[in-house]
Amino acid sequence: MTDCIFCKIVSGDVPSSKIYEDDHVLAFLDITQVTPGHTLLIPKQHVADLFEMDSDLASTVFARLPKIARQLKEKLGAKGLNIVNNNGELAGQTVFHSHIHLLPRLEEGDELDIRFTTHEPDFAALGQLAQDLYLED
Ligand code: 5GP
Ligand code: ZN
Repeated sequence: MTDCIFCKIVSGDVPSSKIYEDDHVLAFLDITQVTPGHTLLIPKQHVADLFEMDSDLASTVFARLPKIARQLKEKLGAKGLNIVNNNGELAGQTVFHSHIHLLPRLEEGDELDIRFTTHEPDFAALGQLAQDLYLED
């Protein structure tokens, strides 16, 4: 896609700090570095988000995560790592070429704050919701 910044990174028209590349995916350092080593893993093929991915492409992209995560852990001495994948503007996506953030956690008190606000569920409603959402194999 001609006006897509990540497609331009794939083609080499825009420079990037690559840390992994094969025929199907590219991983490079995020320009904003929320934590040191903050990396983006993208398919080389342009798809906007997870909703547009077929299972073959998803398998290809997601299968690369463990080895890239291990590389970040080993080389940076990370004690943990979060993966974040924003899909849609409301979910915080700003670049509409699907990507997975890998965020190494090096120390307590870093600047990454992922917080889940928990709620006591209505278990009947929860059961109904599960039925409504149930996906046949
Ligand atoms: P999103 O908010 O869509 O999940 O994440 C997009 C990410 O892409 C942001 O963290 C942003 O810093 C990163 N980004 C945007 N443009 C560029 C670029 O030209 N080069 C690199 N390396 N990262 C970029
Ligand atoms: Zn693209």
